[in-house]
Amino acid sequence: MNYDVIIFDADDTLFDYKKAEDFALTSVFEEFGVQSPDTDYVALYRTINQELWNDFEKGAISLAELRVERFSRLFAGTGLTIGAEEFSNRYLGYLGAGAYLIDGAVELVEELRSKVRLAIITNGIREVQLSRFSKAGVDHYFEHIIVSEDTGYQKPHIGIFDYAFNKLGITDPARVLIVGDSLTSDIQGGLNSGIDTCWYNPHNKPNATPVKPKFEIKQLSEVLTLL
Ligand SMILES: [Mg+2]
Repeated sequence: MNYDVIIFDADDTLFDYKKAEDFALTSVFEEFGVQSPDTDYVALYRTINQELWNDFEKGAISLAELRVERFSRLFAGTGLTIGAEEFSNRYLGYLGAGAYLIDGAVELVEELRSKVRLAIITNGIREVQLSRFSKAGVDHYFEHIIVSEDTGYQKPHIGIFDYAFNKLGITDPARVLIVGDSLTSDIQGGLNSGIDTCWYNPHNKPNATPVKPKFEIKQLSEVLTLL
């Protein structure tokens, strides 16, 4: 065996985040009487949300501010008269219920669990992520689920990896593999912390970055060939 521990990214590696987000946005717009929100609201929300996550990663705003500010800006820009804080709370409730797994994810962790130790490192809001993983019925496969909000760091910062290694009692990083879909957070984070890296690239995206993963796979089941 090449590895003792496999660390997975969650969103768009084991879990379908876009599906969860679509479900949550559709549900919350419906609840607040915004009938059949056209795609412009969703597209605008995604743009605003991305900008605010970038600000958060730079330390410009807090996670608590981000949660509400993204809707304040959306409503200010579209003329909707809805209370952003209440809307945000309802949205996060729906998001936490969005337990959609990527094809092959359960089969993979089921197969791996008798062979290696498993963990998750995810960037996100603690209550939302833990609720989703638990509702999907897969949280028990993982020895530790580390959410960035708990650590004060985001992937690819080495701080969140140090936190994880400490929790897992890892002394030899060479025996650890990270599997994730993001070159800039998962693979860069793996490189920063001296562990092996596997890029999950189901749609054959070209790699236009200087970040070079050790392995690249198209299907989750290929992780089994790396052991
Ligand atoms: Mg991801």
